[in-house]
Order: sequence, then C-alpha cells, then structure tokens
Amino acid sequence: MNKHHLMAPGPTPVPHRVLEAMARPLIHHRTREFEAHFEGARRGLEWLFQTNGDVITLAASGSGGMEAAVANLLSPGDSALVIEGGKFGERWTELCAAYGVEADVLEVEWGRSVDMGVLEARLERGGHKALLMQASETSTGAKHDVQAVARVVRERSPDTLVVVDAITALGVYDLKVEEWDLDAVITGSQKALMLPPGLAFVWLSERAWRAASESTSPRYYFDLGIERKSQMKNTTAWTPAISLLAGLAVALDMMREEGLENIFARHARLARATGAAVEALGLAIFPRDLRSEAVTAVCVPEGVDGKAIPLRMQDAHGVTIAGGQDGLSGRIFRIGHLGYVDSSDVLATVGALESTLADLGYSLQRGCGLAAAQEVFDK
Ligand SMILES: *Cc1c(COP(=O)(O)O)cnc(C)c1O
Repeated sequence: MNKHHLMAPGPTPVPHRVLEAMARPLIHHRTREFEAHFEGARRGLEWLFQTNGDVITLAASGSGGMEAAVANLLSPGDSALVIEGGKFGERWTELCAAYGVEADVLEVEWGRSVDMGVLEARLERGGHKALLMQASETSTGAKHDVQAVARVVRERSPDTLVVVDAITALGVYDLKVEEWDLDAVITGSQKALMLPPGLAFVWLSERAWRAASESTSPRYYFDLGIERKSQMKNTTAWTPAISLLAGLAVALDMMREEGLENIFARHARLARATGAAVEALGLAIFPRDLRSEAVTAVCVPEGVDGKAIPLRMQDAHGVTIAGGQDGLSGRIFRIGHLGYVDSSDVLATVGALESTLADLGYSLQRGCGLAAAQEVFDK
C-alpha cells in the first residue's frame, strides 16, 4: 500500500473539509439556499482577488477562463501582444488564432522571464488592443514580473488591456489586480484553490468591461456580460457546477482562516525548501530568472532517463509529479507545491526523489536533499 501524494502543478490535493462539502446531497440552483452559498463564495473570491469588483465564475477548466477573456475583450482583426514563454503562452496564441485575432508573439526562451527592454521595444509597434501573458508559466517553472509588465504597458501604450493568466499564481503569491492596474485576471479551481478541476474565475477591470461591451467576437456560453448580470444577483445564467461551488465556499473559508499573508509565506517556504533540496542533490533548477513559488522545475541530470523519474516516483512511492512538455520532455521534471500542501508533503517528495534518482543510477548522498529542506522548514 502506498499513500498517494499529488505533487503535480495541478490538479492539487483537496482537503477533507472540501470533499465533505461536495459530497452533501445536491441542492437545486434556483433556490434561496443556493443563492446564499453563491453569495458567500462570491465575497470570498473578491477577498482572494483583493478587489472591490466582480469575479465571474464559469463551469470550465482554466482554459475556459482564458477563452472567455479572448472572446469578450478582443474582436476579429484586433492585434494582441502575446508573451509566449512556454506551453501556456502558446495557448494564448492558439486562442487568438481561433478568434481571428492577430497575435504579435513576443517569444521568450522557455525558462526565462520576459525582459522589460524587449517588451518596451515591442510595444513601440503600437496597435495592441491587449497584452496576453502568464503570471506563472507552469510548463517551465518561471514567472514573469506582472507588476513591471503592467507599468511598462501603462507608460508606453496606456489603452492596451493587460490580461493575466494567473492560474498558478493567484492564491500562491501576491498579485494586486487593482493596485497594479491590470485588466483581466484568470484562475482555475484545481490549483491554489484546493478544489477538483471544473471552475474558472475571471476578474475584469472597468476598462475591460467596457471593451467587453464593444467586442464583436462570437460568444454564447462564455458571454461574461450575461454572466455578470446573473451573478451579481447571486444566480448563474446556466446550470452551475453546484457541488464544486459548495466546495469552493469551504475552500475559501479555509483560505480566509489561514490569511493571505500566511498563504503567500507558506508557498514561498515550500518553494525555497524544494529548491534547496534539489540543489543539495546536485541538480540544477530550470528557470533562470524568476522562479514561480507554485512549481519547481528541475533539470534532469546527465545520464538519467528523465521520463523514468515521474513514472518511478508514481509507481514506487505513490508521489505524482510532472515531467516536461514538448521540447522539455525528458529534460526536466516538475514538482508542484501549491494549494493544500505543507512541509510534510515536500519532505515525503524529496525522500522519494532521492530513492528514485539513486535507483536510476544517479550518484547522490542519501539524506542531503532532506536535510536542506528541513533546514528551510526549521528556520
Ligand atoms: C493549469 C493551467 C492552465 C489551465 O489549464 P486547464 O487544463 O484548462 O485547467 C492555464 N494556464 C496555466 C499557467 C496553468 O497552470
């Protein structure tokens, strides 16, 4: 028997309290009881997003939230500047193609963070209706400096909408959606929110809501204006994911009990401990500029079969981590440490990693990684 440790950068573990809330008998969504649940969740989301504005909840995975942003803010023929530094950056480019939006792709080497000088130069081209980016590029473990990007955009191209996929950032580290003057921020349920997949959340600035009312892109299910009218009255346009919403209310209660500052500090500590552990084992961290606190991407050492690492972690130790995607397949592996994760999860993962690497022929000193992680936690 092996206990299961979900240490992928999504989906992430779901606490018992949340599972219990989702297991309760289903209620109907056109009832006062549902409206009360929904209002509680809505207020919790405003707290999590640090906003006085409206956060729209959609029944979709995170990509549905990304699609909603493109479909509502942009029109066919518009130009969007896409910061593309990994698999999720590519998703923005693909969404633009699907909606007839011209993507001006700013390619960032996978593992790097966008350079402000390069961004400034690219904005000189002008005509960008929106800038589409990731806060944390889960495929490479790198993060972009959202605050700096927003500042540059406001200076160089004040009307460009700053659209941020914060799916592994919101609830992991600080993201001041209003103070930094962002326009759209998106997250999903199965990352920091400690829920199963199935909900996407979209916050828009007033400037973005105006753009949404002017967009000519085709949309129906993902029409944010229609949803906003319903959700402000604590109901939804379509049948909502009722059980997930019951879980969301509890997950947000748990997050409020912990407090935003403590949540950010916990994730920073988990990332520091994981980073210290793999470096103590002689491994290199993949991202070269800014590291996301949600996921640690690690270079596969010379002579080790990279694809075998996640498989062996899973089969021999019950620890689910992720491999690399596309060009990084077999070259990196990724340890997620976001959401319902604590120090004991990281220690179990590091212990399993030491055994796995040793089994795969990598020479290491047993216990080195564990000691480095413990040192971070004991501080
Ligand atoms: C998980 C994730 C998504 C959403 O993917 P879905 O599979 O649609 O939930 C989008 N962007 C980033 C950065 C992610 O980590």
